[in-house]
Amino acid sequence: MRPPGIHDVLAAQRRTEELVVRTPATAYAELDARVRDAGAAGASLVVKHENLQHTGAFKVRGALNLLLGFDAAARERGIVAYSTGNHAQALAYAARRTGTRCTVVMPLDPNPVKERAVRALGADVVLAGATFDDARARAEQEAAATGARLVGAANEPALVAGVATVALELLQQDPGLDALVVPVGGGSGAAGACLVTAAVAPHVEVVAVQSAASPAAHDSWRTGGLVTRPNRTRAEGLAVGCGFELTQHVLRERLAGFLLVTDDDIARAQRLYLTAARTVAEGAGAAALAAVLADPERFAGRRVGVVCSGGNASEAELVRALRAE
Ligand SMILES: *Cc1c(COP(=O)(O)O)cnc(C)c1O
Repeated sequence: MRPPGIHDVLAAQRRTEELVVRTPATAYAELDARVRDAGAAGASLVVKHENLQHTGAFKVRGALNLLLGFDAAARERGIVAYSTGNHAQALAYAARRTGTRCTVVMPLDPNPVKERAVRALGADVVLAGATFDDARARAEQEAAATGARLVGAANEPALVAGVATVALELLQQDPGLDALVVPVGGGSGAAGACLVTAAVAPHVEVVAVQSAASPAAHDSWRTGGLVTRPNRTRAEGLAVGCGFELTQHVLRERLAGFLLVTDDDIARAQRLYLTAARTVAEGAGAAALAAVLADPERFAGRRVGVVCSGGNASEAELVRALRAE
């Protein structure tokens, strides 16, 4: 499996341009003040608002890029995914926009909000298995039986090239960036940012962030292997238990640093988004801001792009964030 190159990212941008939101890249004086108070003297932030993307998260860019590359026969055979979160919503959305059959396997007793969202997008939902691994096994069977394409959450070059357009778009909107902070689950978003900066802005440092409660990608990067780790974060988008070959390969070559934050750091960053930027971020969406606040000296004096990757927070999650101390 070869990682995509900048030409694949440029092609993805052309291909998806009409179908994705060119999300705002916004500076907030109040956010800068808080980050400087925390120890990042002279830093300024630019928030890339993928929480305002279709389906409320950046993943739709990858899903559209993948499905727009399908021919008519492949769209008819369709896709199968197993996920309860933004990956499923992104694929269901892109499937509807491109006329592709889409089946999503969810574990029994899924989050009803997510299940409704995926059904509303017109995907067939199959409830199977008590756990995520059972759902995966069922999705594999479904794909084998129907000829549909099983779409994983990582190790998918077309998804990496698609989500890489976040970084490309941000650099077009704000060419003065010194650093880019990206949240990591499977690592597609961060790998995409690395591919883009390497090609068009090599002076920009890409820094990844993961929750310490689900550190598989971080530990894979630090050890140079592909490791499995406990996976207990509350931030759904970051809840991945193993490293993936494709994304780790890119991160090893190019990533400048990888930070871990706690779930409580993330909740505080969600609250700061609400109060200082009037922005709703889900946990994963607030992790990049949490990382700047957790390691402020690293970002002193620099112009920092923070990817607010998603906004699909539940009410309970927002209540918890507002109460975070
Ligand atoms: C999936 C997701 C992430 C992590 O992205 P990867 O490409 O899997 O590393 C971060 N934030 C949100 C909101 C997500 O949905």
